[in-house]
Amino acid sequence: MVIVDKSKCDNCGTCVAMCSPAALRLDKAGIAVSEKCVECGACVKICPIGAIRSGIKENHA
Ligand code: SF4
Ligand code: SF4
Repeated sequence: MVIVDKSKCDNCGTCVAMCSPAALRLDKAGIAVSEKCVECGACVKICPIGAIRSGIKENHA
């Protein structure tokens, strides 16, 4: 699962639109990641401010 840095995220919603398994949801609390995440990395790449990072073990980063 990916990790969203809520102190950086400006809730633009770009990553939500990119997530094909619909694992990301934007609500009042910000971006939420569900178990549907397949670690494809699309949201990590698309976030314009680098607020999402992979939650895979550090040696894969
Ligand atoms: S890594 Fe892929 S599946 Fe997981 S939240 Fe990001 S876009 Fe969705
Ligand atoms: S693309 Fe980045 S800044 Fe925009 S909602 Fe997603 S995590 Fe937040």
